[in-house]
Amino acid sequence: MYQSVPRTNPDPRALVEAALAGDVRAKARLFTLVENGGSEAQLVLASLAPRIGHAQVVGITGPPGAGKSTLVSRLAGALRLRGETVAVLAVDPSSPITGGAVLGDRIRMQNLHGDPGAYVRSLSTRGAVGGLARAVEDLVTVADALGFDHVLVETVGAGQDEADIAAIAPTVVLVEVPHLGDDVQAIKAGILEIADIFVVNKADREGADQAAAVLRTMLSLVHHPEAWKPPVLKISAINGEGISPLLDAVAAHQKYRQTNGSLEAWRVERARRRLLDGVRERLFERLLATVSRDELDALAVAVAEHRIAFGQAVENLLAVGRESVSL
Ligand code: GDP
Repeated sequence: MYQSVPRTNPDPRALVEAALAGDVRAKARLFTLVENGGSEAQLVLASLAPRIGHAQVVGITGPPGAGKSTLVSRLAGALRLRGETVAVLAVDPSSPITGGAVLGDRIRMQNLHGDPGAYVRSLSTRGAVGGLARAVEDLVTVADALGFDHVLVETVGAGQDEADIAAIAPTVVLVEVPHLGDDVQAIKAGILEIADIFVVNKADREGADQAAAVLRTMLSLVHHPEAWKPPVLKISAINGEGISPLLDAVAAHQKYRQTNGSLEAWRVERARRRLLDGVRERLFERLLATVSRDELDALAVAVAEHRIAFGQAVENLLAVGRESVSL
């Protein structure tokens, strides 16, 4: 549906106004514009900044096939039934398509299709190493500013994304499945500290009680950095069982973070990280703007041929703001 929107160059300010007025196509275009990045995206984000801070942002992570999409679709459906609006940002490592309507969205989130109170978007992790967290954060900002009550960010719990999800969402839900028993190593220690709520999905299958017990034992062994005791919930996403207790746990965790000040601390920490990232990026851009391709090539050849030490070459590059590269 969103791909049918003509790709003209929209005036960012007009787009923001139309999206805030509820225009569904304008909303989709705003997400695309911000996802594409660049100066227009910065302009949009700056104009949206005063409007953010109201959405409840939740990260949902876990191994492939654990049922995250099914669960997210159930959660979104339950929130819509309560009359609340929800944006789903699904980070899909296997999808080559970024933005717009990915086939998976249409299959998995059918219940939300055509609902103006729900918005579903897939993002590909391909080629986005390192930049993904920020891209998702920016889209969360858009969803928040557009007035969505809830933002559900779904990621596959593999590698770096786990740390990323904790930087994006103040509440992280880890989805696991039964048969953990012999395979406890499959859950990496890091995620136990990052996740705030644990879900044993597919509780309609055998072994859910045992998996929950294993998880509880593991949790009792790790030092959770806060006073919050992460609950372990059994859910059957496919049957829609256990959804309300999960929503209650999410609400309880967000309240916990609000009242003990850790939400504020989390926001400050996130802002600090973004600031440093931003400075790093701008400094790098500025530096590259002063170095020609030929100069960089010449320096690289010199390093490869051991005519200049690596550290010295870096210093030379840093010095080119004043002059051209000297070998
Ligand atoms: P994801 O890769 O984590 O997003 O997992 P999906 O949501 O795509 O689900 C993977 C498979 O597990 C699908 O075939 C789902 O139908 C199935 N599934 C999801 N939730 C449940 C559940 O609660 N019980 C059972 N038995 N199957 C489920």
